[in-house]
Amino acid sequence: MSASLKVTPESFGRNVGRWLDIIRNNFLFSYWIGFFTDPLTIAFLLIWDIAVLQSNVYLLTASFAAGLTGWTLLEYCFHRWIYHKGQTLLHAGHAMHHEDAKLLIGMPWFLNTSVYMGVWYVFTYWLEARYVSGFSSGVLAGFIFYYCFHHIHHHYNPKSAWYRKLRTHHKIHHQVPGTNFGVTMTFWDKVFGTTYRKAEAGSKKRLASPANSPTL
Ligand SMILES: [Zn+2]
Ligand SMILES: [Zn+2]
Repeated sequence: MSASLKVTPESFGRNVGRWLDIIRNNFLFSYWIGFFTDPLTIAFLLIWDIAVLQSNVYLLTASFAAGLTGWTLLEYCFHRWIYHKGQTLLHAGHAMHHEDAKLLIGMPWFLNTSVYMGVWYVFTYWLEARYVSGFSSGVLAGFIFYYCFHHIHHHYNPKSAWYRKLRTHHKIHHQVPGTNFGVTMTFWDKVFGTTYRKAEAGSKKRLASPANSPTL
């Protein structure tokens, strides 16, 4: 357990704890289903745009790339300001992950599917707007990258030097939760000045808590 995380799932009250128990134990909330439904959702969205709306493949690819790029900032913002703030089920679930990093808990798969199918229904099916699906597929692809990388960070130890650096970045986040919010890249931590710095953390450690220095 990360001794420096200020909240625990219990901080959010008994109702949230009960919901988290349901999410952990019910097949409907299974951690693994999203690994299949999200790629299928992307395939559906792209095929519909090409086959029904006859979108230009190059523009569709560009809108996909724009969505994927946009995701990288969304990942940072989501992790920093939604997973780590407020009295919400998402914060409580994330606190549970910080308590036990190997726990298989994630965003319920049907939340993603309903959001993206809702966007498809309004913009693509009803308004017949091209490339909205390309953009949202790119965002959803970013989400897939996020949970694949995050799973590997906690369950495997790849040899690649680049990957090990990224994994260490996230491992530090687990020990110093106010730093290193990027999971698939370190870029936005550099932009927002939240990259972990040993000297700063060392002085904070001396001033505040004895448990703030990462042991890797
Ligand atoms: Zn993690
Ligand atoms: Zn976190």
